[in-house]
Amino acid sequence: MKRFALAAGLLALSPPAQADTLVDNVRGETIGPDGALKTFGAFLFDDAGVIKAVYAPGDKRPKQGRKGYQYHIDGKGRVLLPGMIDAHTHVIATGFALLTLDLSDTTSLDDALGKIAAYAKAHPERPWIIGNGWNQERWHLGRFPTAAELDRIVPDRPVWLDRADGHAGWANSAALRAAGVSATTVTPDGGSIERLADGRPAGVLVDHARTLVDKAVPTPTPRDLDLALATAEADFARRGITAVADMGTEINEWLAFRRAGDANRLYVRIMVYAQGTETMAAIGGTGPTLWLYADRLHMGGVKLYADGALGSRGAWLKAPYTDHPGTSGLPQLTETQLGNLMSRAAMDGYQVAVHAIGDKANATLLTTITDLGHTYGGDRRWRIEHAQIIDPADWPLVAGIAAHGGIVASMQPVHQTSDRQMAEARLGPDRLRGAYAWASLKREGAVLAFGSDTPVERPDPWTGLAVALTRQDETGAPDGGWQPQERVDRLTALAGYTSAAAWAGFAETRFGRIAPGLRADFILVDTDPMSAAPEAIRKTKVLQTWVGGGKTYDAEAPIDAKTQKEAPPPKP
Ligand SMILES: [Zn+2]
Repeated sequence: MKRFALAAGLLALSPPAQADTLVDNVRGETIGPDGALKTFGAFLFDDAGVIKAVYAPGDKRPKQGRKGYQYHIDGKGRVLLPGMIDAHTHVIATGFALLTLDLSDTTSLDDALGKIAAYAKAHPERPWIIGNGWNQERWHLGRFPTAAELDRIVPDRPVWLDRADGHAGWANSAALRAAGVSATTVTPDGGSIERLADGRPAGVLVDHARTLVDKAVPTPTPRDLDLALATAEADFARRGITAVADMGTEINEWLAFRRAGDANRLYVRIMVYAQGTETMAAIGGTGPTLWLYADRLHMGGVKLYADGALGSRGAWLKAPYTDHPGTSGLPQLTETQLGNLMSRAAMDGYQVAVHAIGDKANATLLTTITDLGHTYGGDRRWRIEHAQIIDPADWPLVAGIAAHGGIVASMQPVHQTSDRQMAEARLGPDRLRGAYAWASLKREGAVLAFGSDTPVERPDPWTGLAVALTRQDETGAPDGGWQPQERVDRLTALAGYTSAAAWAGFAETRFGRIAPGLRADFILVDTDPMSAAPEAIRKTKVLQTWVGGGKTYDAEAPIDAKTQKEAPPPKP
């Protein structure tokens, strides 16, 4: 109630509606208040970018003029949807990924080495060569790459390259030296250092060990962060994304978001989940922040980690890895630590989002949430980030939480197609039934919020929608879809990228649908996701993107990210 009153207060600050805009002649589709599909032909929004009325195709429209609307947007009969919401992103990292060396399309180690050499040559001014996106699985290398391989092409400067999943880094010898990582370095808990036979580091550092080198990298300046944010925002806008959840926001990233908000340059809504409880308290103090800048920025929760990722065998499994029987992965926190941190957040009314990939991590998390539910009642919307492998034996725990506090399965459809073969190798056939089990988790009562985990995957909701419907990659493989019983229907998929993703961030009264009282976040596209073939949905072209009644992208007239004009939102 308190939050609602504050939101109403914000709206009251905006000027009386003097310049309403009618968006007409569209094939509008949104999730309705009852969860069913609602179609419409037009809608009206006010000066503050809030929707006032929605009209069915046959409904009478207001008239243009002083008493009606002042501005008119002709949709030319095209498909109009609520803006897409990516429920799991890393905003600043996405910007940096776009600005730094990208190895995600490399097909072999040699291909990658060629790109690294060319980049180093083109950027002699950079003291460190920073990059990301490599994946030894995609290279069919059968092992991690080494520092020696990097030394041959860049011997003079540190090189530090993030693996595609962000859970491992590849350094050259100069970077290892700069970080002080040597044969005598003790492997940190929750991490591993690939080593040569004589104990010297081989070049790749996994999970917590990554921070050894991360700490040596010169920290980005506020200007670097601002540029990364603007770069990410422009990328989101052109893909039709109007809101994101930022998972694991650091304090300097929060400050970049604030600078953008203060300067009226925040044109993607960001739902912030602070990186750990200390950052959470530093940003929020005694509780979640207000919704700032007319619902463009909100820190409502904390991001915690139960384990690592499957690719680097950091995901915490009940039984050993099929392709590496010596390990069952790495828990990032003990059960007690996890429970204590979650409790600290829940006590102050923060939402809790926990990264859990392996079946053991998910089982531990579900048990912990069930226990905490006895103390922290009410509407909690416990978020499991990824929820990648859940033992079907643990599915009933999901149902229990769904009925008591609420549970969000924040999942990334494209991870299923990207990781399918790797998951088969890591897990063997028996554990696959609980892998990427979208339909089953929904059946148990979890709300599916879809996202990309960008920069791990491109923040492309259209590929995500197509995969959610088919469990097939862009080549149509595998035939009939992988574990096809876990596909979802079109309505669930669309909700996963709109209304359900908003609900997952306690934002359903603010955006995520086209309905009176909600922010006018919408997109015009060339394909109808409710009727088109999945292959066509995958190729959807975004024509226009609007946030709070202001245009942030136009395919026909690209808007400069920095100079785009829109009505300034009221200051909170
Ligand atoms: Zn993530």
